[in-house]
Amino acid sequence: MVGGGIAGLTAAHRLVTLDSDLDVDLFERSDRSGGNIKTTEFAGHPVDEAADAFLTRVPWAVDLCRELGLDDRLVAPSGLPASIWHEDALHPIPTPNVLGVPLEPEALAASGLVSGAAVDSLRHDRAGNGRPVDHQDSIGTLIRGRLGDEILERLVDPLIGGIYAAHPDDVSLVTTVPQFAAAADAPSFTRALAEAQDRAGTATEPVFATPRGGVGQLVDALEHRLGDRIHLNAVVESVSATSTGLAIEVDGRTQAADACVIATPAETASRLLASIPAAATLAAVDAVSVSIITLAFDREAVDGPLESSGFLVSRSSGLTMTACSVASAKWPHLGHDQVVLRVSVGRAGDDAIAAASDATLIDVIRRDLATTLGIERPPTDMRISRWPHSFPRYRPGHLERMAAVTSALAGSGIAIAGASTTGIGIPTCVKSGDAAARRTYELLR
Ligand SMILES: Cc1cc2nc3c(=O)[nH]c(=O)nc-3n(C[C@H](O)[C@H](O)[C@H](O)COP(=O)(O)OP(=O)(O)OC[C@H]3O[C@@H](n4cnc5c(N)ncnc54)[C@H](O)[C@@H]3O)c2cc1C
Repeated sequence: MVGGGIAGLTAAHRLVTLDSDLDVDLFERSDRSGGNIKTTEFAGHPVDEAADAFLTRVPWAVDLCRELGLDDRLVAPSGLPASIWHEDALHPIPTPNVLGVPLEPEALAASGLVSGAAVDSLRHDRAGNGRPVDHQDSIGTLIRGRLGDEILERLVDPLIGGIYAAHPDDVSLVTTVPQFAAAADAPSFTRALAEAQDRAGTATEPVFATPRGGVGQLVDALEHRLGDRIHLNAVVESVSATSTGLAIEVDGRTQAADACVIATPAETASRLLASIPAAATLAAVDAVSVSIITLAFDREAVDGPLESSGFLVSRSSGLTMTACSVASAKWPHLGHDQVVLRVSVGRAGDDAIAAASDATLIDVIRRDLATTLGIERPPTDMRISRWPHSFPRYRPGHLERMAAVTSALAGSGIAIAGASTTGIGIPTCVKSGDAAARRTYELLR
């Protein structure tokens, strides 16, 4: 197993549960496992440095928590509303919506985010007069075609940008938002989304959950199960086929193996598999860098609305921050003694911010917080968490290209998994690690 992020940890865990006699080794380059999941103490509470929750509308992460005995520790966010910063003001995100796609014209009009013409385009779609879009297209093509540029740029882009750090015109519909793809060719896109929400009975249920104590607890539980099968500070340099199986080059020595799951970012996987032609496809999956700046303030320091889980920022607003989560309001278990904000920066097309020094980053964020929340006083605590190349870009056709790599590797004993392959997010990575482990197990039997 290469890579100790959630996909690699899940794959190793699954192999061990399928057959406890299997000899499983997990090699992780850094000095900790978890990859893009990391929870540390901040202002007296465990606060996530990257992912802070996972979707509950798909089963994979919740099921894994249940299997690990964490299900009774899961907590949901407070459910306070979120808003969008656009044209120098915060606007409520119209509800109901699906990832920013508004479903009710009246709520959209009341948000003040878009013009009357944009509200009319939603009415037009609701009436079933939309133009079907190929589900292989980008999110931008779908939303522009169905609902127009304003709804895309002021609502969907901030949400998609906040979750995937991507530009909707560049990202594959089917890989990124399968629920959009499933509704893309219905006569009314928005009615199809609303009906799917009703069918799932999820419109009012919490969409996200996290273990009390942070997402890091999921990593801790997996680490605990895997014990000394995890090797930290172990850099894998290549994985290649030999006459008797596989050879894994790790830290200058060669380890023989019958099978190997590679759960690293795609660019690394392509290097490790340089001897296998199909793996070249992986090199083309680039990734966007983001950072999370966490700040704590005394309550009196903040003028802005705090009865909110946070806000997203429209691209045209001229701010650097892409989102601000009010962690202390979003997660009641974090306590209310101070205001804790998690500010995100970095998105596709904004490479400069990834390279900015800590001092520049802090200056820019404090300016943005003064503009949006009227915070002039310095924070009492602050930390910067940098996540270079952490958001893979899923260009149209991504899933087909990854399926081709997977089938070219079939029978070789090598399986690929993780966010670069089938999609971002903890549940999808859990599913992908689990599937890679099951494919590997079938081959070994
Ligand atoms: C800031 C941020 C916020 C996020 N928020 C959320 C959220 O709220 N909810 C959600 O569901 N998802 C969120 N995500 C996405 C989610 O965290 C990721 O999709 C997921 O954790 C990726 O897991 P992975 O195992 O595929 O990859 P990674 O976590 O990238 O793990 C890959 C591992 O491979 C190791 N590795 C690389 N090269 C080698 C090598 N040569 N040898 C050995 N090891 C190697 C790396 O060190 C790393 O530990 C967020 C991501 C970020 C960055």
